[in-house]
Amino acid sequence: MKKEFGYGAYFKFFMLITFAIVLGLNLVNIRDWSLGIVGTLLPIWILLNYMLGVKEMPRGSRMNRAWIKIIGNFILFSILLYYIGGYTNLSYTLFHFFIILSSTVLLSPYAGLLMLGLSFVIALKVVFSQAYVLDNFIIHSYAYGGAMVIGYFIRMEKTQKSKLDHKVRELDALYKISKMIDYFPGTEEILDKISVIVGETIDAAMCLIMLYDEEQERLTAKAGYGLSKEVINNFTLRKSEGIEGEVIENRGQITCKDIGNLAIYQRLFDGKLETVTVIPLYLRNKVIGTLSIYDTKDKHYSSEDIDLLDMMGSRIGMILENDKLYQQIHTKAIMDGLTGLYNHKQFYDRLKQEILDAKRTGYQLYLLMIDIDRFKAFNDQYGHVVGDQVLVQIAETIKGSIRETDYAARYGGEEFAVILPNADHETASKVADRIRGNVKKTTNMIDQLRGEDVDITVSIGISCYPDCSNDIVNLVDIADVRMYKGKAMGGDKIIA
Ligand code: GH3
Ligand code: MG
Ligand code: MG
Repeated sequence: MKKEFGYGAYFKFFMLITFAIVLGLNLVNIRDWSLGIVGTLLPIWILLNYMLGVKEMPRGSRMNRAWIKIIGNFILFSILLYYIGGYTNLSYTLFHFFIILSSTVLLSPYAGLLMLGLSFVIALKVVFSQAYVLDNFIIHSYAYGGAMVIGYFIRMEKTQKSKLDHKVRELDALYKISKMIDYFPGTEEILDKISVIVGETIDAAMCLIMLYDEEQERLTAKAGYGLSKEVINNFTLRKSEGIEGEVIENRGQITCKDIGNLAIYQRLFDGKLETVTVIPLYLRNKVIGTLSIYDTKDKHYSSEDIDLLDMMGSRIGMILENDKLYQQIHTKAIMDGLTGLYNHKQFYDRLKQEILDAKRTGYQLYLLMIDIDRFKAFNDQYGHVVGDQVLVQIAETIKGSIRETDYAARYGGEEFAVILPNADHETASKVADRIRGNVKKTTNMIDQLRGEDVDITVSIGISCYPDCSNDIVNLVDIADVRMYKGKAMGGDKIIA
């Protein structure tokens, strides 16, 4: 973003011009100068301006320091000029003209009015002390009043321009974001790019998007600008930890200064940070994350900046909502609706992948094909609704009998398949036996079957990659044939 011409630069310009004119006008009567006083005041005046060097100043306290600077200059320079040229000197009028003009433009019209008042008080005092003629006072009045009016118009122009600039920035950010959403490169990438747009538009040193997991009560960084990938990948916060955590709890925007002292930020950003502003991200009425902007300086964000941040925050909310819908559709496409296990297609996709992995790593892979015994008869007797409950319960039993890294699917109807990557014969037999044993308890889990004289059992066939076959279809066939062999032996069997 284009940097604004700062207060400091304006001020220095005005003061230098004034000083040069004053010196030039008064150099001729240098013998009238009160050199001792000028010699003392001049260094003080230079020191004041040096110490308050607006350019290096952080933006937050900029206004206060600009006030100190202008008022300090007013007092010191007034005294200085008095000892150089006296009240009636033209340079004195010129100085007041510039100070009224610059306070109106740089601070506010009220600051200009204050300077105007002070200048008049001094001028009046001189009139009443008889050292001054009325004509001179009238010249002063014109000069001071003129400075105020010119300053006011320059200021109006500036305000108008900054409002316009802000609108342009807002539209530009909106355009960039909507263009990206249209083309939708994937949520992760969108968040990455949005964080860059936010950082650049607000002119922040860093920007971070975090998402909140309600169950875990944890915030996790998802994308950032000005931060290393390492920081983004490892930054998580508990609910109520850090400013982000507080925003999750209070559901409102927070701006905080001096965050360099907070341990969490110090650890992550080398204690470089000064200011943070965090806004909550909403999905409908729920807070789903945070958008933070950080600065290494004590920076002040205007209400327009915050509005802009809010606007971008609501876009991020929309993007995340889209992502959620997409995930839901995607889940539907790969999951079995009744049991919540993976579906037939997903089973084959995964089996293909796992076989490739097994080939690469040299580990064995075991496959279990599981089929409910005499389920048709069961359905005929108890009805399909109870039959469905049995299927759901058996799916739960299978999920509860395998490791996180194993993979269970509903192969079709009343058949299930389990992939055990990186397993051995003993483990596979144990898992199969656990499933077979637990399935028998199904009758206790379903209200309509409690106390009924019914056995729910499964037959399980086991095959192994690469021992049984290298081919995916053969591998499934072999497990299937073995499973039917178990059925032929009366069911409730495991054949490997
Ligand atoms: P076997 O011991 O040989 O496996 O006999 P079976 O009756 O279990 O096998 P068969 O293949 O003859 O019948 C499968 C039955 O599974 C038919 C159907 O009633 C039942 N089934 C398949 N899908 C569902 C389902 O989604 N819900 C319910 N309730 N039953 C299902
Ligand atoms: Mg069956
Ligand atoms: Mg069957």
